[in-house]
Amino acid sequence: MALYSFDKSLALFERACRVIPSGIPGHTSPAFNVPGSFPYFAQSGKGCRYKDVDGNEYIDFMAAYGPIVLGYNDPVVDAAAQRQREAGGLFNHPTERSVELAERLLSLVSDMQWAVFARNGSDVTSYAISVAREHTQRRKVLMVEGAYHGVQAWCRSGTGGLIPEDYEHVHTFHWNDATEALDLVKRYKDDVACIIVTPFHHPAFGDQVLPAPSFFADLRRICDENGIVLALDDVRAGFRLSMHGSHAYFGFSPDLTCFSKAIANGYTLSACLGKAALKAAASRVFFTGSFFGGAVEMAAALATLDELERRDAIAHMMKMGTMLQDGLKELARARGLEVVVSGPPTIPYMRFANETNFRRMQRFSGEAARRGVIFHPHHNWFMMEAHKEEDIRQALDVADKCFEVVKKEFGG
Ligand code: PMP
Repeated sequence: MALYSFDKSLALFERACRVIPSGIPGHTSPAFNVPGSFPYFAQSGKGCRYKDVDGNEYIDFMAAYGPIVLGYNDPVVDAAAQRQREAGGLFNHPTERSVELAERLLSLVSDMQWAVFARNGSDVTSYAISVAREHTQRRKVLMVEGAYHGVQAWCRSGTGGLIPEDYEHVHTFHWNDATEALDLVKRYKDDVACIIVTPFHHPAFGDQVLPAPSFFADLRRICDENGIVLALDDVRAGFRLSMHGSHAYFGFSPDLTCFSKAIANGYTLSACLGKAALKAAASRVFFTGSFFGGAVEMAAALATLDELERRDAIAHMMKMGTMLQDGLKELARARGLEVVVSGPPTIPYMRFANETNFRRMQRFSGEAARRGVIFHPHHNWFMMEAHKEEDIRQALDVADKCFEVVKKEFGG
């Protein structure tokens, strides 16, 4: 099979650079994947596959960085969105869909009594901080070092345009170190509004780390004893671990939780859910956006949640993810290589055991892209319900050839 080339992607990138700062800004920039050996622009998708502008087709393990949880262009979700589109998507008022979706989420997600909707994950993680500050009338936010909560200035994930005052009241502790969190609580006595965490640690360029057995229980106790709001950022993992929220999966109870990505299979929607005690504060935070009431996205979310349940999608993705992880480890070993795969099977992360500079991983991912499989070199991957055994087998065949290239080039 001839290896893919990316001529049209490259030409389009040149064009983009003339009219868009950096050509492709943010996490999909060529600088963040494998420059020269990765597609830059997509064209169309179906199930777990998509085509780029050069007409190359890929089995995808990135799912648009998470949102595509069922598969590209899922017919059931798209039909629900289309029905709503015909009635109208955006009005002077919300539609009944917003009430239906809030009711649906609250009946599904453990321990939550209200829901607010927005567009992106960053909208709701930042809203959660505001609700916590309003509720406690305090300033400080504690977050985990290296965690990603979005592009807003407070969480400092991005670069450029920031001033120290943006994050003056945000302090970090290390994942799984509740003692360090408690030290910060003591240091900033009576001024800590919120501790915000993800359900497991998923830094870019690093292994994923699951919560230590007592981590969330310890944080819960620290928050309860000190009047602090515990917020969960479930934007990345939500609906890939449990339909009841990742807190149900790991057995703890936050005061607020944030969803986006997988909630609507690619339609732009996010939600912050909270406990009754925070409802009054939530209603005092002025939070709005021209598109927050969009009904097409809500119709898509209602259909996505139904389909995830009906197809028992998480169990299926766990099975396919396990098959992929086991297969990768086995194939690498057979070629005299060692890979480390971390995180839950539905959101895996792979690296070569003996490297810190990502050169092998870049080569592996670049070779995979040229053979029709998208494995990101330094970001976690995402499984979809559309991945079937045959897709995994095909992807593993490609992975084997890529391991062969890595072995030949790097020797181990
Ligand atoms: N929190 C987490 C854990 C995320 O993974 C992301 C997106 N990668 C966000 C927040 C921000 O979401 P968005 O990009 O939709 O603003």
